[in-house]
Amino acid sequence: MSLITVGTMAFDAIETPFGKVDRIVGGSATYVAYAASNFVKPVQQISIVGYDFPQEEMEALQARGVQTEGVEVVADKKSFFWSGKYHIDMNTRDTLVTDLNVLEDFNPIVPEAYQGAEFLMLGNLMPKLQLSVIDQLKVRPKLIVMDTMNFWMDIAMDDLKEVLKKVDVLLVNDGEARQLSEEVSLVKAARKILEMGPKFLIIKKGEHGALLFHENHVFFAPALPLEEVFDPTGAGDTFAGGFIGYLAKTKDISFENMKTAIIIGSAMASFCVEKFGPERMKEITKADIDERLSQFVQLVNFDIDLV
Ligand code: AMP
Repeated sequence: MSLITVGTMAFDAIETPFGKVDRIVGGSATYVAYAASNFVKPVQQISIVGYDFPQEEMEALQARGVQTEGVEVVADKKSFFWSGKYHIDMNTRDTLVTDLNVLEDFNPIVPEAYQGAEFLMLGNLMPKLQLSVIDQLKVRPKLIVMDTMNFWMDIAMDDLKEVLKKVDVLLVNDGEARQLSEEVSLVKAARKILEMGPKFLIIKKGEHGALLFHENHVFFAPALPLEEVFDPTGAGDTFAGGFIGYLAKTKDISFENMKTAIIIGSAMASFCVEKFGPERMKEITKADIDERLSQFVQLVNFDIDLV
């Protein structure tokens, strides 16, 4: 059961109330791949990097079952660079720099060996490029999940709406759901967004969990209350990777199974925030994941007698 992931592979500079790093590997596709590879192999990566992207980072991904044939390496340009600073609540951040570099003339090519994948994760990337990948697939995947962000809503909203018509699941945070729908109420926002194309909508609310909308149904998954959140960068992408990785593993794309998948996504995201960049994602084992999932079961498990 293969999964194609598309997105950025990057260098990030991150500042949180707890520390600062000037240059750490990141990017939407990096986080998605680290999370999804715990559940499904191969993960077939499509991205682009410059001459400065470390070979050992590529090898670390390959060692986890991530295929990199679809990762273009540009010899004379730098990798995508993003810099962000978190506010004291860690739920909000300012983007300080977005240097597209290699992304500027990226034209993703789906390798022949990737054709036939049943799951497609469109990680955060220019909407036009997300569309190009969908169009190159000879057989439509069973499930297409799309992530995006306010940056693309600001500069490429029309393209973004074109992609929305072709995907099954959209993942956005609460602010982005409001921006996309021009509604303040998240319930109204969800209704409007579901009319734009996707059949399922996930609204992430950082430390306040995530909502899954489908037709008239809504499901809520909490985020694990953590004593320390060190760096939330990549939590959204990690959530997405856990979500689609679990669906690809179980091959079940029903609303019921998506409820479990968003708990899995939340569990994966709870690891991501414990260290800077993808460091924590590189360490965790199946036993760590199982233990954290049982904490989630405890968190939401209760009995009630309705009289
Ligand atoms: P998240 O915290 O889940 O929103 O993801 C943060 C990651 O997204 C960082 O590692 C960045 O390199 C990457 N990123 C930031 N801005 C963009 C963008 N406009 N397009 C694609 N990836 C981005």
